[in-house]
Amino acid sequence: MTAPTSRPTARSADLFARASAVTPGGVNSPVRAFGAVGGTPRFIASAQGAWLTDVDGNEYVDLVGSWGPMLLGHAHPEVIEAVQAAVARGTSYGTPTEPEVLLAEEIVARTPVERVRFTSSGTEATMSAIRLARGATGRDVVVKFAGCYHGHVDALLASAGSGLATFAVPGTPGVPQSATDLTMVLPYNDRAAVERVFAEHGDRIACVITEATPGNMGVVNPEPGFNAFLAATCAAHGALFVSDEVMTGFRATKRGGWGLDGAVEGWVPDLMTFGKVMGGGLPAAAFGGRADLMGLLSPEGPVYQAGTLSGNPVATTAGLTTLRLATDEVYAHVDAVATTISEAASAALGEAGVPHLVQRAGTMFSIFLLEQGSTLTAVRDFDEAGRQHLPAYAAFFHAMLDAGVHLPPSAYEVWFCSAAHDERAVQHVLAALPAAARAAAAT
Ligand code: PMP
Repeated sequence: MTAPTSRPTARSADLFARASAVTPGGVNSPVRAFGAVGGTPRFIASAQGAWLTDVDGNEYVDLVGSWGPMLLGHAHPEVIEAVQAAVARGTSYGTPTEPEVLLAEEIVARTPVERVRFTSSGTEATMSAIRLARGATGRDVVVKFAGCYHGHVDALLASAGSGLATFAVPGTPGVPQSATDLTMVLPYNDRAAVERVFAEHGDRIACVITEATPGNMGVVNPEPGFNAFLAATCAAHGALFVSDEVMTGFRATKRGGWGLDGAVEGWVPDLMTFGKVMGGGLPAAAFGGRADLMGLLSPEGPVYQAGTLSGNPVATTAGLTTLRLATDEVYAHVDAVATTISEAASAALGEAGVPHLVQRAGTMFSIFLLEQGSTLTAVRDFDEAGRQHLPAYAAFFHAMLDAGVHLPPSAYEVWFCSAAHDERAVQHVLAALPAAARAAAAT
């Protein structure tokens, strides 16, 4: 499917053709390819604040934010200055550095983790957290939820097996059955399924891993008390509760997804993973948790984990500067922008007669466009997320893109706002919504 556009795209199209010759699908991460919405992905040449500029000179208000990291907006002057100064001091030493300590202290101050270890990607963080959970418990089985994405870790690229409480099947060729034989995939928000799996396999379960608030099937909120229930169930069975905050960390709220429930209800995950915002747009991620558990990591303990560029001084400087600038005022602003845009999108869709649901987790939100006559009142799991009317989203997406607003090129994603989304950027988005809603209605 190709999408008509009134904007020039020749340079993006040319680069995409060349990219496709030398890189599979023309992209280095699949969702960038516009596979779900059709058309040519825009090659971005530069970005400033809330705006992207592509290689054909088109400008877009960015509602992707590099898939989460750009909480402050693009090229924040203080982040750029700090990164430039760090680069000038050398890009990697393979020794401990001060910015790592400062960033670790900042993360420990904002979250319930007591110690952290840095990695270069969220994938490595979740992979390492699971290894640590297995090492700490001496057990092998990992429980995850359908629709939660934890990076491209073999054991976590798993789909639900044929029935509940059965072991998973690989979610992709290249992952051997043996890699997912120890993974169980349950429907999200399903307490009975969790109870069943612990009743049958409790003494083999090393950990339950979940997104703090899932964002990788669109925003799907945990039902009230669901995360607390997971934490308590794990504790009762000697398993660890791993909360993946790669997306929500320092983004959903100042205290991440945990700020929405754990901080209020008074429970803490045993292990947490972070990424995206804490790298300020450079490759940095982390996992952390209780001091005694983290003490099991090499070189203090026996569980091996490492990385040539882990805690890289440029990346940790970008992350540290970003977190220091991410004040209460920043979160309040991003929250207000999310409210304005999500309410306006909902109003435009309502006016055009497009059934839809808006789901929100702090500053993060998603809009699910539904089939005409849909009776869905909330998306609670991956099956329900699958009830979206995908052609409507594709039409909506392309109308917005053509009007200069870059939404996530998939219906299963979060819309990310930033501190740099000012009145001009917001008004630009609002102006584009009614025509896009009509385009969605016409599908
Ligand atoms: N966990 C979650 C919740 C994520 O959203 C992502 C990335 N979208 C990852 C893990 C993997 O992070 P990365 O892409 O940095 O490997």
